[in-house]
Amino acid sequence: MIKLLIGTNNPGKLREYLEILAGLPLETLTLAQAGISVDPDEPHETFEANALHKARVFARESGLPALADDSGLSVDALQGRPGVYSKRYAGPNASDDDRMYKVLSEIEGTPDERRGAQFVCVSVLALPDGRSVSATGIVRGLIAQHPGERINGFGYDPIFIPEGYAAVFSELPPEVKNSISHRGRAAQALLPEIKQLLKIG
Ligand code: IMP
Repeated sequence: MIKLLIGTNNPGKLREYLEILAGLPLETLTLAQAGISVDPDEPHETFEANALHKARVFARESGLPALADDSGLSVDALQGRPGVYSKRYAGPNASDDDRMYKVLSEIEGTPDERRGAQFVCVSVLALPDGRSVSATGIVRGLIAQHPGERINGFGYDPIFIPEGYAAVFSELPPEVKNSISHRGRAAQALLPEIKQLLKIG
């Protein structure tokens, strides 16, 4: 069976990709299973360039086809911040909660009609020979006034209410989040290209 490395050190992303890709005729490997311990930096200013960089590093290090993404939350009232800086928004050693509360405090007092936001994900499959394919997924929504319950998910999920729902991402079952999320949409859009590149049915 064709092997595919899931190139992420983020346990939340890893869980989602394993769920999204389940059922494909692929042997998915985590970084730990492949014995890879690099944590590529994010040197660029676009999701696309960072995702390509990460996927290429993982494909080169492992000698395997590697899937990686760069993703983040862009808040309309903050001119798109934290955006590509989502992971480092409250400094290098901050927690998910620190980042989430930073966003909430920056838009404190903003009414619901001006709390629009979107999660963006660019997902890239890179092969060790240098070929790559990429796809983008976006989900629009609102930043909640207060964090919701932390049942599932990770990162900014407790403050993001996806369009058409009355709950934040962290309150939705994983399969519901994956069916509408930026990551789920990027992966779905990439699927035909993954199948073609890896020559699987
Ligand atoms: P990166 O793609 O490794 O730069 O990390 C993206 C950061 O954006 C994560 O560390 C989270 O803080 C945030 N993020 C990306 N996708 C999600 C998601 O699905 N839910 C919540 N936060 C996310």
